Amino acid sequence: MATPGRCAGLAPMNHAAHGQRIAVVTGAARGIGAAVARRLAGEGLAVAVIDLDEAGCAATVEAIIADGGRAMACTADVSDEAAVIVAVARITAALGPPTVLVNNAGIGPQADLVELATHQWHTVVGVNLNGPFFLTRAVAPYMIEAGWGRIVNVSSISAVGDADRVDYGSAKAGLIGFTKSLALQLGRHGITANAIAPGFVVSDMTRATARRLGRDFAEHQRLAARSIPVGRVGRPEDIAHTASYLVSAEAGFVSGQVVYVAGGPVD
Ligand code: NAD
Repeated sequence: MATPGRCAGLAPMNHAAHGQRIAVVTGAARGIGAAVARRLAGEGLAVAVIDLDEAGCAATVEAIIADGGRAMACTADVSDEAAVIVAVARITAALGPPTVLVNNAGIGPQADLVELATHQWHTVVGVNLNGPFFLTRAVAPYMIEAGWGRIVNVSSISAVGDADRVDYGSAKAGLIGFTKSLALQLGRHGITANAIAPGFVVSDMTRATARRLGRDFAEHQRLAARSIPVGRVGRPEDIAHTASYLVSAEAGFVSGQVVYVAGGPVD
């Protein structure tokens, strides 16, 4: 169980003053978020990791520190507005003002429309769409003040429609609209906003789908790879690589885009 806004980790000095960029990566206890956090830290950013999973958060931070990077962990539920405000305030006090935000935390349980409970709809929208709103609203003032910022929202190919998960598909499509609106509204402050829409990526999320279907995970991946043009499933590092590009200084003229990282085209 998450303790709202509980933060820990290595934050001995304010490197923002020394030009080190501060990144916030949500859902970084494992999977895609952990890969993004490690990649950004490896590129010299100080990284604040936010996740519900306290032990997983600590493991990501320990791995970054072991590699010589700087990181701190914040245990928080991104769908909890108050917890997000507390977490961002603690991150800013400890590391410095964040100017890079990767909204990656997400959940995608199976949901047939007719059986979909209202509370599940709200939970899925709460994590996948409200969470990015709470985080972005909390972090954007620091970006505006800096006259520079990078926002990356992790959507999904489910945004174009998902037969098994109407709540998830809807939230991920909403996240793309949010991203484009941010790009339009914040561009004049030197802030870019882009979405990454992954296809099948090996993680606990796809492992859970395999379990639901009663399939061995290796077999599930083999079957998925058959319909992917490049002939393989994705890895968290594929997404981390794309995020790394989108948050780079060099990507300042790329904004409001959806980058499908799916091994082929998506429509
Ligand atoms: P994952 O389940 O391995 O990781 C998700 C992480 O988010 C976990 O660490 C979890 O604890 C955290 N999280 C969940 N709810 C949270 C909350 N309320 N507050 C804070 N943290 C929370 O999944 P993943 O595959 O690494 O997914 C990462 C992102 O990529 C998600 O947004 C997901 O929808 C998206 N995505 C994944 C795939 C895929 O095939 N794996 C495809 C498309 C999009």
